Amino acid sequence: MAEARKPLVIVGASYAGVQLAASARELGFADRIVLVGDERHAPYQRPPLSKGLLSGRTTREQLSLRGADFFAENGIELLLGRRAEALDAAALTVRLDDGARLEAGWIALATGARCRPFTCPGAELAGVFDLRTLDDAERIAEAAHSCARACVIGGGFIGLEVASALRTRGAEVTVVEAQPRLLARAFPPAMSDYVARAHRAQGTQVLTGTGVRELLGDAQGRVAAVVLDDGRRIECEMVVLGIGVLPNDALAQQAGLALDNGILADRLGRSSAPGVLAIGDVAAMELPPAPGVPRRMRLESIQAANDGARAAASLVAGRPEPWRAVPWFWSDQYHLKFQMAGLPQPGDEVVLRGDMASDRFSVFYLRDGVLAAAQSVNRPAEHLHSRKLIAEGTRFGAAELADPSFELRRPAPA
Ligand SMILES: Cc1cc2nc3c(=O)[nH]c(=O)nc-3n(C[C@H](O)[C@H](O)[C@H](O)COP(=O)(O)OP(=O)(O)OC[C@H]3O[C@@H](n4cnc5c(N)ncnc54)[C@H](O)[C@@H]3O)c2cc1C
Repeated sequence: MAEARKPLVIVGASYAGVQLAASARELGFADRIVLVGDERHAPYQRPPLSKGLLSGRTTREQLSLRGADFFAENGIELLLGRRAEALDAAALTVRLDDGARLEAGWIALATGARCRPFTCPGAELAGVFDLRTLDDAERIAEAAHSCARACVIGGGFIGLEVASALRTRGAEVTVVEAQPRLLARAFPPAMSDYVARAHRAQGTQVLTGTGVRELLGDAQGRVAAVVLDDGRRIECEMVVLGIGVLPNDALAQQAGLALDNGILADRLGRSSAPGVLAIGDVAAMELPPAPGVPRRMRLESIQAANDGARAAASLVAGRPEPWRAVPWFWSDQYHLKFQMAGLPQPGDEVVLRGDMASDRFSVFYLRDGVLAAAQSVNRPAEHLHSRKLIAEGTRFGAAELADPSFELRRPAPA
């Protein structure tokens, strides 16, 4: 009788983990798959947590990542509310918080990221919130019911989405960003200015170039004000933090895997330990090669989690196909849909197409004359074209890209 083979054990039951399980089955992986997740909820979508769920457009029931029968139908054993506490990379075993020990043929770490700790005095006050999970979002939504004034600390995508959702609900909102401009890591100065103008036009106060000195509480221990570095006070009943995330790499660290702001992994998700894979937000995965782009990076996006998982699935299923897609990401703020493709780099030539004042435009990045990245606002078709043109390494002149009458497609060969 053939010996039963050891399972694929996946730690982390969110985008990367669920996609790996699903793709492994699609590609014919026939052994057991065990998916372990420490949250109590069935796998759910995270992007609406800072968008539709907070503004009241999306209900909790609409968040489900897969249909109710998906896991059973695909023979995926889902262990929810269970935490992996130790990894033995040499023996390929995982110990869970209830003492159970899972032996594996493959172990995939898809443990994602957690909010960066906020160390400012007053951080422990009631009414100060992080946002990573459904539970976090529901706590914020609950507090928002009775909140007239909110302060968002951090002017990145999550902070700005929260600001937009709370403002849409009618609260007075202040965004505090320590960098001199919003979204400084992702956007060029003109786009940052556009985003700040868009938020101010909705009545949100945007303060840049200032850190937070302390949070002050009232007699009940609830946050009452944010004190900025320059002494200004923002009176508020709630504070939401959007100050970035750290990879959940404790298991990998304890098991001695190679790390550098995340678990180092190649384009098939292979970590430094044979049989141990790392995918999604926890992984500093090797990127598809592109001129000027770093070799490895943690890309905190649904697409990177899904594509990394598909690549890892191809490996476990015995048909290795390294990750090759152009990175892309989106963000919704008020009536604005931001869509980004490719990874802009310092030194790229920045080209504006369309009129920022119309809230419909794209910003393109040319690297040595080749389209390397694009960011669009309310131009979904242009975003889709750009993704394709970036993948094909298409060459453009700045003037033709800037001309809205120039059809955005691969130029005919000369
Ligand atoms: C509010 C919000 C809005 C976002 N909006 C967008 C967006 O608009 N577009 C976009 O592309 N991306 C967005 N993102 C980012 C996106 O959600 C992440 O890139 C994606 O969730 C990464 O998936 P993942 O599976 O790698 O990790 P995660 O989704 O973080 O999941 C990891 C899971 O592993 C669990 N876990 C961790 N350690 C253990 C352990 N030891 N044992 C068991 N389980 C464990 C965690 O609890 C978690 O459930 C958003 C994120 C947030 C928080």
